Amino acid sequence: MKPVSLLRLCPSLPPIARRAPRFPNTFVRRIAMASTNSVAVDSRPVFFFDIDNCLYSRKCNIHDLMQELIDKFFIAHLPISAQDAVMLHQKYYKEYGLAIEGLTKHHKIDPLEFNKEVDDALPLDDILKPDPKLRKLLEDMDKSKVKMWLLTNAYVNHAKRVVKLLGVEDLFEGVTYCDYGSQPLICKPNQKMYEKAEQDAGAPSTEQCYFVDDSALNCEHSQARGWTTVHLVEPGFALPEVPPSKYTVRSLEELRGLFPQFFKSNDEKSTS
Ligand SMILES: [Mg+2]
Repeated sequence: MKPVSLLRLCPSLPPIARRAPRFPNTFVRRIAMASTNSVAVDSRPVFFFDIDNCLYSRKCNIHDLMQELIDKFFIAHLPISAQDAVMLHQKYYKEYGLAIEGLTKHHKIDPLEFNKEVDDALPLDDILKPDPKLRKLLEDMDKSKVKMWLLTNAYVNHAKRVVKLLGVEDLFEGVTYCDYGSQPLICKPNQKMYEKAEQDAGAPSTEQCYFVDDSALNCEHSQARGWTTVHLVEPGFALPEVPPSKYTVRSLEELRGLFPQFFKSNDEKSTS
């Protein structure tokens, strides 16, 4: 039988268990047993990060490029005019939060085909570069106090591609993504998606979940769930009339001031 890594079996293991392969097999087994017998093994809160227009600036215009590719997909795969394609795309986006959800519901489109022609076709390599400031911010978060987890409506290919290009892929312990390979599609702001994220990340409780996203709708629904939510609205973009969540920031850097409990102290930074 193909060996399965301990981390895949127990994604919620604490940092010590993540280092377990250096120790004898009996030690590894003990940690694995402890994780199945006790939910209290890893009590760290979870900080969920949205990816697109959150870890990189909305000014990169990736969203606009994606909209063009989606319109192109509608025109190529549905028997409608270019004008109707744009309208239908907007309609599904408003109704479901994701164009692909409407496409799979009403037109039997294969989401993986959509992913190939839209997300995977984005010229991200030309746009996204390693971001040292973002990396420093994420590095300064204390992994013994908080678990960092990605939460995206994109498929896993896109999620991995973006964090790799930004040079921060090693700083997250996992990702909850919209699984285009299974029906029905579950994505934010559906409560099932937040529930799935809690399970994937092994969150100790709903109250121990923190989240930052640039989408007001996603923020509104995660706040309603009980997550401590931060709406990111970059400078130059209008703030919503009614804040969708408890916190609003103009930059991820503001997380340092809002949640100092999750960041390393200056002493810890100088020794790490
Ligand atoms: Mg986003």
